[in-house]
Amino acid sequence: MELESILLPGICPERPIVISGPCSAETEEQVIKTAKELADKNIKIFRAGIWKPRTKPGGFEGIGVEGLQWLKRVKKETGMYIAIEVATAQHVYEALKADIDILWIGARTTANPFAVQEIADALKGVNIPVFIKNPVNPDLELWIGAIERIYNVGITKLAAIHRGFSSFDKSIYRNLPNWHIPIELRRRIPNLPIFNDPSHIGGKRELIASISQQAMDLNFDGLIIESHCCPDEAWSDAKQQVTPQVLEYILSLLVIRDEIQSTENLSVLRKQIDDCDNDLIQILSKRMRVCREIGIYKKEHNITVLQSGRYNEILEKRAEQGEVCNMDSDFIKNIFQAIHEESVRQQIEIINK
Ligand code: PEP
Ligand code: MN
Repeated sequence: MELESILLPGICPERPIVISGPCSAETEEQVIKTAKELADKNIKIFRAGIWKPRTKPGGFEGIGVEGLQWLKRVKKETGMYIAIEVATAQHVYEALKADIDILWIGARTTANPFAVQEIADALKGVNIPVFIKNPVNPDLELWIGAIERIYNVGITKLAAIHRGFSSFDKSIYRNLPNWHIPIELRRRIPNLPIFNDPSHIGGKRELIASISQQAMDLNFDGLIIESHCCPDEAWSDAKQQVTPQVLEYILSLLVIRDEIQSTENLSVLRKQIDDCDNDLIQILSKRMRVCREIGIYKKEHNITVLQSGRYNEILEKRAEQGEVCNMDSDFIKNIFQAIHEESVRQQIEIINK
């Protein structure tokens, strides 16, 4: 993808680029007060939800177009850039009319290709920065598909927002981070800036600092963090919002490490890693060769491919061994599960030949 910088004039390129503001614009007073406090803390990009996609009816669904006038005031009185969520062509039209600077596509919208295409079509010919949140489900292709739909109408100021993934199971997170998904996104589209949204991943303010630090350690470009002049009274997402003052404190705690490309020591160590990886592939292919021989034997003797007793024995034995060698037993089990899956696949192929 040929992308242009998302850095609007005056935005410092140093990591993290910070976007902050309330989950929802609620009243003119709340918007202006929060914005002024943020501007005092040197925040340059203000976020606020005007239309809110709520999981269930009955919650606060956003103030609507009326709030756009408050955001215009924020822009005029603080000089901050304004970012809002859009979910329909009508939202895009209203946002552009109100001189909004950055648009983002919410997680529920990214999950729906029809909706993303509608937004893309409404944006034809306008080169406004568009940030695309991950879909609610952990589907990297759907995320990339949404990015491509926006790119294909000529928008080149693109960024991704990692806001975590829904899960039925309880966890400390509101939305599971699944860090390997944004890491894989970075591998697939290396020049696409990635922001992290610790507010929606954590779901509670206590988790914002540690999630943000992890994002910085993974070399993310920016953070989008919800803030509110009176967080406990917020009309949506109250538990995860912080005051601008707390935001400033959280940002001051961050340790920003450089991505070192190639110091000498590092390249020596990386060479060793490459050698280990080569050995791993050799060993795995040797193991698969033996598995295929077993496959032939099973076929000749009419034995089932899956021998669960044997499989359990391997998992338990290797997990124990792994622990002795300083590795997490679940990690070892995962590896052997994957190896077993591939062996079974190859043996089934042989049996059915
Ligand atoms: C939001 O940013 O307030 C929001 C609704 O986020 P998401 O789309 O990630 O749920
Ligand atoms: Mn929110």
